[in-house]
Amino acid sequence: MRIDKLLAHAGYGSRKEVKKLLKERAVHVNGEVVTDPKTNVDPNKQEIIINGEQVLYKEHVYFMMNKPAGFLSATEDNVQKTVVDLLDPEDLRYNPFPVGRLDKDTEGLLLLTSDGQLAHQLTSPKKNVSKKYFAEVIGLVTEEDVERFKAGVKLDDGYVTKPALLEIIKADGISEVFVTITEGKYHQIKRMFSAVGKKVKYLKRIQMGTLELDQTLQTGEYRELTKEELEQLR
Ligand code: URA
Repeated sequence: MRIDKLLAHAGYGSRKEVKKLLKERAVHVNGEVVTDPKTNVDPNKQEIIINGEQVLYKEHVYFMMNKPAGFLSATEDNVQKTVVDLLDPEDLRYNPFPVGRLDKDTEGLLLLTSDGQLAHQLTSPKKNVSKKYFAEVIGLVTEEDVERFKAGVKLDDGYVTKPALLEIIKADGISEVFVTITEGKYHQIKRMFSAVGKKVKYLKRIQMGTLELDQTLQTGEYRELTKEELEQLR
């Protein structure tokens, strides 16, 4: 890979800025100064140093976040805070973006990555990737609701959802449930409960495909995916 491309991708500036760094003799490859932007390098085999700092090159970044309520699942917004605002400036180098959307008031598992191909794979309606949520629901959730979710629920716009798995943890004035769906319609879980006459009070995603929310992450915290998590997700 060309060194100017690699350094630009790793967040060391535009191609033009990288060219300037090279010209200033700030870049060493295996101890030798490199000034030609066309120089081919292999980041896995050669040590690349810029102004004394080793370049840790990755093709993409993959972060698991426990999204807090109050943040938009977007990369930027003129008014409101976004999940990307929760990332360290260092981690923004690769321009990660959220994979799919959680509502502003929904918490839980959100994957942020720079890998467009994986993002597409996980959100494409054709792939039927399952998403599991924990919900607190106002009203008594019943076995009849379980059956209705299994059969598919007609939403307010007439759309009938695909079969969904509703598991009752606690049936009460405020019920606690798990819901697993394989699609991602706008406000889907809230609208499914609304269709059976109930209101979601609290919603948290706990799983997406094979990826489970790390319970040790506090809301607003995030970490890189492990190698195993990434391999399974692909
Ligand atoms: N369903 C919802 O209603 N909201 C979410 O954030 C995700 C699924």
